Amino acid sequence: MSLTPIELAGDVIERCLARGFALAGVCGVDPPAHASELLAWLDDGRHGDMDFMTEALEVRLNPSRLLDGARSFVMVADLYAARGEPEVVGPGSSNARIARYVRGDDYHRVMKRRLHDVCDALRAEHPGHRFRSFVDTAPVLEREMAERCGMGWSAKNTMLIHPELGSYFALGGFATTLTLEAPTAQERIEDHCGTCTRCIDACPTGAITPYHVDARRCISYLTIEHRDRIDDSLRTPIGSWVYGCDVCQEVCPHNAPTVRGVRRSEGLVSHAYATRHAGFDLLDVLGWDANARRSAFNSSAMKRATLSMMKRNALIAIGNLAAIPESGVRMSRYRRAIEDAMWNPNEPEMVRATAREVLASLDRSLNGAGDVLGASPAVESPE
Ligand code: SF4
Ligand code: SF4
Repeated sequence: MSLTPIELAGDVIERCLARGFALAGVCGVDPPAHASELLAWLDDGRHGDMDFMTEALEVRLNPSRLLDGARSFVMVADLYAARGEPEVVGPGSSNARIARYVRGDDYHRVMKRRLHDVCDALRAEHPGHRFRSFVDTAPVLEREMAERCGMGWSAKNTMLIHPELGSYFALGGFATTLTLEAPTAQERIEDHCGTCTRCIDACPTGAITPYHVDARRCISYLTIEHRDRIDDSLRTPIGSWVYGCDVCQEVCPHNAPTVRGVRRSEGLVSHAYATRHAGFDLLDVLGWDANARRSAFNSSAMKRATLSMMKRNALIAIGNLAAIPESGVRMSRYRRAIEDAMWNPNEPEMVRATAREVLASLDRSLNGAGDVLGASPAVESPE
């Protein structure tokens, strides 16, 4: 007996939830509702160097083109951190901070494996139908689709938020030629941001305007995507983040602990996302070679930042920590590390230039506090 599109959708959603996804839903292949905003954002250059955002734009704006004959999308979400989960590394620590989504196993791998399982089973049961899965690997507006699938709302900080589970989600899904119709239980979730502006107020770089993030100012973009020097005015707000930033999620009341939310979300975070490292030692990062980077990033989603980008990020974080007199860092070691990077002919110019700039800023900021480092602010070659 063949299933109706609603029954089939319910069956597919159940399969996804049974595979451990925290949320799942279905939607059609209609063009995105916010296409004009995306175009304006791109026109304004707010995507920075992320040229991939402009590639295959016709598919982003017409998702039916992702797969020949596509009739439906299935979207899924993995929770990589529970609501209310306390931060392991605090500001002012000597460790480099990394975003929560890269602290466990690579979500691309973890999610793709289960999406493939679901697609393979459906392919066997529905011969002639096609499926194409993706986790950041296709030109589709995943968050908007997840919103259409009733998985949450697109919030002022541009994250998808579920009213009970929060926003620590990784998204993925698949396109299919099967016709699926949303079950009645799947309803669009209303925007619950209301008059709240906590993420906007807390963003260290002022990157957020309601429902938009200027990627060029966002620490996630700057530390992970931007491949050049980082502008003076943005270095201090970066603090000790070296890979991503969670500030606008951490301050969101929808990620704060509530008894029901914590209980439900804790049960949905896969062991694969258990924290293997919550950060790095900044001086270690400066000493990395290609092999050390590879082994530090092993099996995590931290793939996009190159070795020189990580050293650039570490130098900025070191400069920021060293500029806080009460941070307790061993100033002389930090200063020596910056100088070593500055004069090391084997380091790329971006790393050496960043070291020069960080040292100059540090000297300027410490001048008012006396000669804390016991070293001359003048920078001279050791040769
Ligand atoms: S990730 Fe950080 S820098 Fe980017 S918008 Fe959120 S708070 Fe601002
Ligand atoms: S902090 Fe407030 S405004 Fe920002 S996403 Fe959360 S609820 Fe919305």
